[in-house]
Amino acid sequence: MTRPLRIAVGQIWQETNTFNRNASTLADFENWGVAAGSDMLSEYGATGELGGFVSAVNDWPDSVELTGLVRFVCWPWGPVDHDTWQTMQRMLREQLQTAQAEGPLDAVFLALHGAMAAEGEPDLTGAALELVREIVGPDVPILGTLDLHANITRRMLASADVLTGYHACPHLDSAETGQRSAAALRKMLTDNIRPATIHCKLPMITPAELHNTFTGPPAPLYRRLEQLEQQPEVLSAGLYMTMPWVDSPEVGWSVLLTATAATPALRQSVDELAEQCWNLRETMSSVERLTPAAVVDRALEIDGFPVVIGDGADATNSGSPGDQTHLLAEFLARPEIPHGALTFLVDPAAVQVAWQAGVNSPFEARVGAGFAPEYSSPVLFQGTVERLLEVNFVLDGHIGSNLPIRMGRGAVIRSGDVTVLLTEKSGPGSTPRLYEAAGLDPKTCGIVVAKSPAGFRAEYESFAAACLLSDCPGCAPPNLSRLTYQHVNRPLWPLDEITQPGEAPWCR
Ligand SMILES: [Zn+2]
Repeated sequence: MTRPLRIAVGQIWQETNTFNRNASTLADFENWGVAAGSDMLSEYGATGELGGFVSAVNDWPDSVELTGLVRFVCWPWGPVDHDTWQTMQRMLREQLQTAQAEGPLDAVFLALHGAMAAEGEPDLTGAALELVREIVGPDVPILGTLDLHANITRRMLASADVLTGYHACPHLDSAETGQRSAAALRKMLTDNIRPATIHCKLPMITPAELHNTFTGPPAPLYRRLEQLEQQPEVLSAGLYMTMPWVDSPEVGWSVLLTATAATPALRQSVDELAEQCWNLRETMSSVERLTPAAVVDRALEIDGFPVVIGDGADATNSGSPGDQTHLLAEFLARPEIPHGALTFLVDPAAVQVAWQAGVNSPFEARVGAGFAPEYSSPVLFQGTVERLLEVNFVLDGHIGSNLPIRMGRGAVIRSGDVTVLLTEKSGPGSTPRLYEAAGLDPKTCGIVVAKSPAGFRAEYESFAAACLLSDCPGCAPPNLSRLTYQHVNRPLWPLDEITQPGEAPWCR
């Protein structure tokens, strides 16, 4: 009798924004759930990419034994602190060694983000894959899933056999991405192949507002990827538009294709896609964004409600702290906002003030700008505490499926036409469910703020009278030249005026 296939699985996931100077601590990861061994599978084995992979391999006709490694997940925030990164590596190493001691492994699967950084380690994903390769040796297949905002690095490619990225932005395909990774593994194991990868790095970064793969400029490129992945020799085809707010050397768009062999025809397909990407760079960066005053003016002019303002600069989905006050200050300055304005702020000190005051009590405090005071200032808020709650819900849709969201204690405060949901911790700024979890109904509001550049459209567009984009300062500004990059390889468009990718030797 043949023994079952043994596959070790883990998840190390965060989109890190290195312009957010607040480190992601072990407590932050614990809030989102750290788990190891069998606990990892029993508690989180049905979430996102991991869930997709697990369900797919469990449907194989082969007998499969899954071994849980570690799960470290944290909502997008600043770099992982040094000690937490050490802990992560130690636990991953120990779990992998334990799994190996129990018998030979046939593969390792990691659900990764691909734009994750720690203090002193700008390429945490590459380092994690390297660690796994070092332990399992050259012969065990290593597969990983990535966000399409991953930043592909040489280290990642040197250690992983197949990397499979989302094909959808808004990211509605997290589970499917895990399933596609499982299909690639099945092909490798069944045909006993070690695939070849073709990678083309482009010296360009773009803001996220137009990254929409359904209706935005890159949509045809993603349809082409899907076609390529239908070819029997292709294990994975990806286009990584990268997350531009991680100041890491190899930041830039990538086209990545993994197949049974790197044939000239596939190389040509990659080159064609890369050329199309390069030609899109200006289009991808040209989108109307309005200053805080102008965006609120425009919202007030629009017939119908709600008008949803996507605040990309303070997008909690992009690792900004969600504490910026530019739009809130505008709301408070207006004499009237028909149907009211609704926003949220990550501000644990203000939550504490509200909890101390109690429901229906007056609230008076300076709110916001606690994490990134370099981009905005606290705003005096005088109003009433309307509700106190724990902000917990389950995220299904953009960026996650079955993902437990835990944003700590919360408070709803109101001043005239302006309602603010305060939370202790960051979380998805892209979904109306954040407000609904606090008993608020964004559909009935005049203006609603989504702290998200693009993903908010997945749910808001279905009922919004209009969606506008703001141009505020913050840790994830759409205007990339506002940031001071120190570590990215140069030249890099649009920071440098280059007309051809060949002008950037570091990409070769
Ligand atoms: Zn993303």
